[in-house]
Amino acid sequence: DFRPAERIEQLGVSEILAIGARAAELRASGRDIITLGAGEPDFDTPDHIKQAAWEAMQRGETKYTALTGTAALKKAIAGKFARENGLDYRPSEIIACAGAKQVIFNAMMATLNPGDEVIIPTPYWVTYSDIVELCGGTPVLVPCAADQGFRLSAAQLREAITPRTRWLMLNSPSNPSGAAYAAEHLRPLIDVLLEAPDVWLMVDDMYEHIVYDGFRHATPAAMEPAIRPRTLTINGVSKAYAMTGWRLGYGGGPEALIKAMSVIQSQSTSAACSISQAATIAALEGPQEFLAERAEAFRARRDLVVAALEAVPGLACRTPEGAFYAFAECGGVLGRQTPDGRRLESDREFCAWLMETADVAVVPGTAFGLPGYFRVSYATDVETLRTAMARIADACATLA
Ligand code: PLP
Repeated sequence: DFRPAERIEQLGVSEILAIGARAAELRASGRDIITLGAGEPDFDTPDHIKQAAWEAMQRGETKYTALTGTAALKKAIAGKFARENGLDYRPSEIIACAGAKQVIFNAMMATLNPGDEVIIPTPYWVTYSDIVELCGGTPVLVPCAADQGFRLSAAQLREAITPRTRWLMLNSPSNPSGAAYAAEHLRPLIDVLLEAPDVWLMVDDMYEHIVYDGFRHATPAAMEPAIRPRTLTINGVSKAYAMTGWRLGYGGGPEALIKAMSVIQSQSTSAACSISQAATIAALEGPQEFLAERAEAFRARRDLVVAALEAVPGLACRTPEGAFYAFAECGGVLGRQTPDGRRLESDREFCAWLMETADVAVVPGTAFGLPGYFRVSYATDVETLRTAMARIADACATLA
């Protein structure tokens, strides 16, 4: 009999994947399901990046690379950090991995002992808590609802810190809420951390280029030199450059941490894909104008989705500053009855009902640790979004 390790028994199968599987099943049976669950841009990887990958292959860059990334890639990453974030990282302070997800995994694997606590503001990307648990740590979830802009407050952080706290994980703009921390929101959190010298800070800036209305992205290590020696700044090309399949993410942090992370990497992937590393150099050093153009396309979609959800009686949606997610409240429809006499008791039931009756797949807030909400990914074309929003409105209008 197959017997899984105890460490994976505590982890559920990702709810997002389960919803995707159910949508695929319904589609196979002939239903026209619109999936607003995916966390990836609908745009394609720009041609100049693909071209760079091809040229790298022709040059023979198809072999193992240095463990933490090629010298040329690290130079490109250091250049990006300096140019866009005002961060000065040496090559020994940079690691490239098979996606930002592996950066996080390496960091937790390299630092957590059993019982070590990691503070995660909720709603959160489920990967955070699952990785912490896989690595033997204890996620400490701090609820941050819409009425506080889905942002952790200094008082909440102070309260959550214990002698066992190893890390605070921050994600701005956030998956799933789309909320972002401006410098004025980060400052009070940094001040709390300055009083707690044993707590490290993991910052996930993955969506920094997908921000709206002139929002200015800020990152703690650049804001406060005193926090830099215990901050891991994470980024990657998946979202900004529409390169989710290339699997390339990177982190900048103090050399001792990067070294420990590279030990984990040396016995898992050995290095990120050589071809993806070359493509990433082209992404980071090539033309950047399309980033703003794509962000503008996402903004138009955000406006459409937020307005449509706000117009539905019983739903409410805070306007997100970035990423391509809207995190809407559905408390006003819970407790109401469907035409076939079922009472919708939770965000999970509401989302399942939308899929079964309105042919729209969205993800319940419970999957991100905050019940009473649902996440809409608007990384899809305007026409599809219009249809999906109309379906949600029509379905909700049938509730008694
Ligand atoms: N960080 C956040 C907040 C994300 O939402 C995602 C993907 O959904 C990632 C990181 C993953 O990045 P990568 O594709 O580089 O592993």
